[in-house]
Amino acid sequence: MYRRSFLKGASLTLLTAIRNTAQTTARDLRIAYGGIGIECSTYSRLRTRMQEFTILRDAELTYSARFQFLKRYPVTFMPTLVATAVPGGPVERQTYETIKAEFLKRLEALLPLHGLYLPMHGAMFVEGMQDAEADWYQAARKVVGPDCLLSASYDLHGNISQPIIDTLDMLSAFRTAPHIDREETMLRATGMLLHCLREKIRPNLIWAPIPVLMPGERSSTEWEPGKRLWAQLPALNREPGILDVSMLVGYVWADEPRSTAAVVITGTDPDNQRRVATNLAQQYWDARAEFKFGTETCTVDDCVQRAIDAKTQPAILADSGDNPTGGGNGDQATVLESLLRHKAQNVVFAGITDRPATEACYKAGVGTRIPLSIGATLDPQASRPVKTEAVVKFLLAETNPARREAVVQIQGVTLALSAYRRPYHDIQDFTRFGLDPKSFKIVVVKSGYLSPELGPIANPSLMALSAGAINQDIVHLPANKYRKPTYPFVANLSFAPKVYESARNRR
Ligand SMILES: [Zn+2]
Repeated sequence: MYRRSFLKGASLTLLTAIRNTAQTTARDLRIAYGGIGIECSTYSRLRTRMQEFTILRDAELTYSARFQFLKRYPVTFMPTLVATAVPGGPVERQTYETIKAEFLKRLEALLPLHGLYLPMHGAMFVEGMQDAEADWYQAARKVVGPDCLLSASYDLHGNISQPIIDTLDMLSAFRTAPHIDREETMLRATGMLLHCLREKIRPNLIWAPIPVLMPGERSSTEWEPGKRLWAQLPALNREPGILDVSMLVGYVWADEPRSTAAVVITGTDPDNQRRVATNLAQQYWDARAEFKFGTETCTVDDCVQRAIDAKTQPAILADSGDNPTGGGNGDQATVLESLLRHKAQNVVFAGITDRPATEACYKAGVGTRIPLSIGATLDPQASRPVKTEAVVKFLLAETNPARREAVVQIQGVTLALSAYRRPYHDIQDFTRFGLDPKSFKIVVVKSGYLSPELGPIANPSLMALSAGAINQDIVHLPANKYRKPTYPFVANLSFAPKVYESARNRR
């Protein structure tokens, strides 16, 4: 009953029933949680430093919206710290070491522990390291000891490796892209951990790497073949001896040996786990040539022209190579230059990261016309700025200069400027400036596939295959040298699925 309930998504009603029947035994369990989550493009020249991380500790974690789901369980999950950052360039080594040291110190203070839940992303790259998540888990394992169960939750675009599998006991990854199952995934990871602790199960963890690497824009679960591949997973989760089935796309913009798609299965029946993993890995491999972009794609200039010519609105144009939620800088003005050259009218563009331009707007004040250089402030080598005149239309009420945002008008383009790297993927990101994206003929966002809020209003949806730290033209990326042979980097690869066990299975 308990196992079935969390496998079906751990609904509130069922978890309440569990709480009522299981209070005595679960109350004695000591479970901590903490982790670090970021996606890092090794093609970015930016470095992610301490100021880019949001770190929640203790009560900030207990009361954060993200971890409210833990209150559904009949046991107290004890907070350490959770560090997250907008995807970007590699993490500066000292920043990583400092966050890790604090996490370990907090973990040590909570010993002894029966379980540790690690809310992770899985595609972190730290300067001078390969396989940064493995380093994090191995360090945690040293503190908590060999008997503590480690359960991690992952993004669909996390990368797996043998050292990761050798250190964890269980893993649950997202099953949707765009990611709309974040909380469900965290419930799977924590519900499985609690179940194993209560039932005294030492789970068996296996994985099957698949030598295929796709950008997320080709492997969405909203169209084929992703739709059918991931749709099977909930049913497979209910098979005998299976506790969790995850299938990961991997992160393509990390030139690391571990970057690859993978199936990961936690369970108690090694034979069935191997059978399911082999079958899924083969299906993924067989579908490799089917992965396609789910929307019209074109060059920047062609997308701008198509948006201008569209008979319907709003045409939503995604500047995909510079999308900050995939690891792009967010500071490039290439699409802005094209819009101005094409004399596009009735456009809202949200937004470009440019702290000097944002500060100039605050200095000048609303209603002022000022000369501005826009773009290429984070990485001047990667793109060129647009030098123009703009009228300041709106300034966000924000006293911290590092968190300021402004709206300017440049000819037919209403442009949001931000002092920091951030996406504009929700309707509210526009309405808080008093802008309604549906009222514009053209909406430009730095995005790959559109978010669940913007996707439904796009009419049409256009994805510009622009340059940037997450260029979609992956096979032609420079410095692509550490990755193992994978499709489509190697077109004529042959493959037969192979399953690898965790070293902890043999304990
Ligand atoms: Zn992702």
